[in-house]
Amino acid sequence: MIIQNLPASATGLLTIDLSQIARNWQALAALVAPAECGAVVKANAYGLGADRIIPALVFAGCRTFFIATPDEAIEARRLAPDATIFALDGLMPGAGETLAAYSVIPVLSSLAEVYEWRDLAKARGEKLAAALHIDSGLNRLGLSLSDVRAVADEPKCLNAFDVRLVISHLASADDPLDPKNEQQRAAFDTLRALLPKARASLAASDGLMLGAPYHYDLVRPGYAIYGGQAFKGGATPVRPALTAAARILQIRKVAEGETVGYAGRWKAPRKSKIAIIAAGYADGLSRAASSTWDELGGAVRINGEFALIAGRVSMDLITADVTDFKVSVERGDLAEIIGPGLSIEEVGQRSGTIGYEVLTSLSRRFHRVYVEDETQTPEDKHLKDKQNG
Ligand SMILES: *Cc1c(COP(=O)(O)O)cnc(C)c1O
Repeated sequence: MIIQNLPASATGLLTIDLSQIARNWQALAALVAPAECGAVVKANAYGLGADRIIPALVFAGCRTFFIATPDEAIEARRLAPDATIFALDGLMPGAGETLAAYSVIPVLSSLAEVYEWRDLAKARGEKLAAALHIDSGLNRLGLSLSDVRAVADEPKCLNAFDVRLVISHLASADDPLDPKNEQQRAAFDTLRALLPKARASLAASDGLMLGAPYHYDLVRPGYAIYGGQAFKGGATPVRPALTAAARILQIRKVAEGETVGYAGRWKAPRKSKIAIIAAGYADGLSRAASSTWDELGGAVRINGEFALIAGRVSMDLITADVTDFKVSVERGDLAEIIGPGLSIEEVGQRSGTIGYEVLTSLSRRFHRVYVEDETQTPEDKHLKDKQNG
């Protein structure tokens, strides 16, 4: 634990390994080659910091990025001036001028979006780039069969664009045994055959693990790049890239029968030692990780040993039972909330959610430290390029 990096004023520390994130992307890119590997960096790169992660991925060789919203589009364009950038939320009413100004390509997901983008292209007198999202069974965003037919029957409409990509999104890719995967893949092929030939993309982090037939021309992983392993079908080539820890404020002795925390939901079954830790739901630790006297909740790891959360997670604090600790626990020590012994998947499970939500919830309260392998930083490359003229 890199405690020396933690300023005295910070209650928690988030360590983000940019080199591991780059290696994860490279491992996925190698797995799917000759298909291209893009990177999904929506929601501030899953909460980890787009301003650091996008440049690191550009440096690793990524040329295609996916964000969700127009605000994210503007930031991504600033950070990756030469990349191809797609907006997954598509075209929000009136957002077209912004996307066009920043050369961000909307993934058009309904007929209304298709027509609005066509009208903007006409008004601007240019053939704007577009991607089309077709629904293959998720029933979230995407053109339906009748929408696809309507678009295909209007060649003038499609001629207003340069269709750079056709995508669809899988509902159950984490489970390789779910027949829905093959059904959606077949539907994707049927629907895109109605449209003019364009590059195709179906798979995100889990979908790309389903094998080459799912790779098409471009894959769009997000979660796996950040070290997430939601795929249930076996080992993936990525590794965790993040640790989160918070300070222990005090160790409290609690007599047998006393309760700990709001509503007195945890009762000491014996004389107990409780670590009071400076992170709570305002830091992004789910309140659903609370425990009661008969129901387990979340856990932390302190000096290598596990401790269960005792009682309610509150806004700024959690309380963990360290009664049985064989190692010393002291005021000022760090409690690991996410790390080598506590994956984001496990943290998600213990709070009734998924690792994705754990990642994107980690709040600004954590002091963030970005680490990189020393020989590989963009600054090094810049220096080297300069030396080589
Ligand atoms: C978020 C998202 C992705 C990335 O999904 P991961 O599971 O994080 O890899 C890909 N495609 C679409 C349409 C998305 O919304």
